[in-house]
This record gives sequence, C-alpha cells and structure tokens, in this order.
Amino acid sequence: MRERIYLCLAHMSGKEQDFIKEAFDTNWVVPMGPNVNGFEKDLESFVNKRIGAGPLDKKVVGLSAGTAAVHLALLACGVGQGDEVLVQTFTFCASSHPITYLGATPVFVDSEKDSWNMDPDLLEEAIKDRIAKTGRKPKAIVPVALYGMPYKIDRIMEIAGRYGIPVIEDAAEGLGSRYNGQVLGTFGKYGVLSFNGNKMITTSGGGALICGNEADAKEILFYATQARESYPYYQHEHIGYNYRMSNICAGIGRGQMTIIDDHIAHHKHVQELYCELLKDVGGIRMHTNPSSEYDSNFWLCTATLDPDLKIKGQQDAYKHVITGAVGGAAGVTHAAKTAVTDCQPNANVEALRMALDAANVEARPLWKPMHKQPVYRNAPAYVNGISEDLFKVGICLPAGPYVSDEDVSYIVKTIKDSIEI
Ligand SMILES: *Cc1c(COP(=O)(O)O)cnc(C)c1O
Repeated sequence: MRERIYLCLAHMSGKEQDFIKEAFDTNWVVPMGPNVNGFEKDLESFVNKRIGAGPLDKKVVGLSAGTAAVHLALLACGVGQGDEVLVQTFTFCASSHPITYLGATPVFVDSEKDSWNMDPDLLEEAIKDRIAKTGRKPKAIVPVALYGMPYKIDRIMEIAGRYGIPVIEDAAEGLGSRYNGQVLGTFGKYGVLSFNGNKMITTSGGGALICGNEADAKEILFYATQARESYPYYQHEHIGYNYRMSNICAGIGRGQMTIIDDHIAHHKHVQELYCELLKDVGGIRMHTNPSSEYDSNFWLCTATLDPDLKIKGQQDAYKHVITGAVGGAAGVTHAAKTAVTDCQPNANVEALRMALDAANVEARPLWKPMHKQPVYRNAPAYVNGISEDLFKVGICLPAGPYVSDEDVSYIVKTIKDSIEI
C-alpha cells in the first residue's frame, strides 16, 4: 500500500530545532521571549509587503491559537453580552464559537458564487435588517478566506465603513493570500492567522492577530496575558485570558517563516496541476481565482461535483453510521447517533470521498455551513442557498507541501477510475 496522502501535512524546514534549542539553552521556556518577538517581526515584514504599492505598518501579536485571536479581536471591538456579530456562515466553527464565548449572538451571512465567501449584498441587507429589528448595529463583521480564497474585501470594507462597523478578517486559512496585491488580514481592523498543524505554516498549535497599530497590539497583548495592571502585586481591573504564544512554539514558527514562500508556491502549483489534469473530466470542476484581483494561497484545493455525475458505489453511501472518526480524529469522542443528517453532501461526493480513502488519499467535504449546525439552530441567518448548495457538491483535495506531482496524478487517476461510465 502506498503511503497515505493527507490534505495538508506539516512540513519542517529543519531550522525549527535550532530556534527551539536556543530557547532551551537560554532557558526561555515560557509564553514570551526572543522567539516570540522574532516570529512577530518575521510575520510583520511578511504581511506588510504589498505588490505594486508601498509597505504597510501593521503590528502582529503571537497567540496560543487562531481561535484565541478571533476571541480577542471580538473583545477589542467591544463585543459583549447581548451583542450581535455578522459572520460568514460558510466556515470552520472557530470563526463563530468565540462570539458565543462573549455572550453575544452570531448572525450568519451566506456566500456569493465567485469566491464562496461573504456576499456583500447580503451583508448590507443583514445590517439594515438587524438595525430595524433590534435598534442596534452589529458590533463586528467577520468575513472568512475559505480554503485561502480572498473575499470581496473592497466591497465589504466600503459597506463596513458606511455603517461604522469594524471588520475582523478571518484569514486563518488565507495566510499569504492576496487581494489586489495586499495580504489578507491587513484590510480590516484586525486580521486572524492560524498556525495549527494543518495550516499553511505551523507552530504545532498557535495563532496571531494582525493589528492596525501599536496601541491596538498592546491592548491585545494585555488581554492575552490575564489583564494585569502595573503594580508590584497582581492587580486586576479587567477579565483577561491566558492566550500568549509559547516561546517554544514561536521557535517552530521562525523556522517555518524561512519556507513560507515555498509552501505558498507549492500549494499554487498543486492547484494548477489539478486544473490541468481535471480539465477534460466532465462533471468535476475546480474552484479557481474568480478574476485577477484574487490571489489565493490554495491552502486546500477544492472541486465541485455535478449532482448527475455517477460515482461507483454511491448507492451505498451513508448506509452505515461512521465510527472511524471516534478516537481517530483528535478529540472526536462522541459516536455519531445516525448515519445521515438533514444536511449532508450528495451521495456521489461521499462515494468519491470513500473511494479516495480506500486508495489511501485523505479528502473531506467542504465546511458545513454554521446556520445548518444544530448548535446554531436559533441564530439569525441571512441566506441565499449558495453555501448549502456548495456543501452538498464540494470536496477538498490534498494540497500540502508533501503532495508531489506524482501524487496529484495518482489522485486524479483515482477520481477518474471512480466515475461510473
Ligand atoms: C483554523 C481556523 C481558525 C483558527 O483555528 P486554530 O485551530 O484555533 O488555530 C479560525 N478560523 C478558520 C476559518 C480556520 O480554518
């Protein structure tokens, strides 16, 4: 059996261990230190570089996770008990869960067809309707760069500016993606990055928040370190969090920054290869940059399947309760109660996922929209059907640094062989 091909496996430069060794040698085994400072500087010079324009002057704060970055950005935008936050429904739960940590309510906004991200027209409709219904403005807007693809940030910023609502860009999947030559996460008031094990670069686990200026960055740092006032003893006037990045993790991050450009180039190369090899395969279409403003990092390569495309074995899809995730995927300890739910990918998508799995290739459906998640059944949602439709037809294909040209050929061959003719 050939080695399993994963969606996006962490890949080391070899320099990570030097930075970690230095941390041990100098006894900086704490959530601060030279690696944290160095990693933040590296990230700042990376995100501040623009193509065809002068550099920006954004500040970056290293945190323990991307989820922590979302949480602190919301807090800094004044989100609290009883508030509402507009968030893209087509996303991973880390975009919306922190809204609930603060006692606020997520208001979900559906996507447009070009980028699969937040629909600006629907966003404005939602703002107007929330103001009409509650008499108050939502506290923040959270668009998400799904699989790295940029959102229509020029229109989103224009609308947000008109209503005076801050934008928190969830660029956790979009590290290094650009819109009009500018790195995602640098347009809004805050930009979220993630360095989880399967993202564009990793610190094993970690995240960062891009801030507009030094004062904002200092405020985030204050809340990330338990909100301590400047006294000789611990004096607390605010509730803080233990969200600072570890100096060991930051050492991994510094090593990763030496290969981030290679990683991005590789993901784009794999995307091109899929497009080339699948272009004549009827019923399957790759999701690509909609126009020249968009420059996705293609964190994951994604495709959609025509509902009429017949995949071998699709009549048997969803026949059994899936038990493999329990104990297999980290932290999945609850067994599924049913073989099906009221909103799931089409049978041909599930059959293709199973065919790839049997060929030792990891593939996965698109994120299930948050407004279709049982836990959010009572949250307001402004929908046009696009994310739900995409969820039913979409699939994520491997794209990480370990995916070779030969792997892509093998994956495409497996896909072709699974099609019923
Ligand atoms: C990964 C991710 C995050 C942050 O996740 P962490 O695992 O906490 O670093 C946030 N939003 C989206 C859309 C993500 O994919």
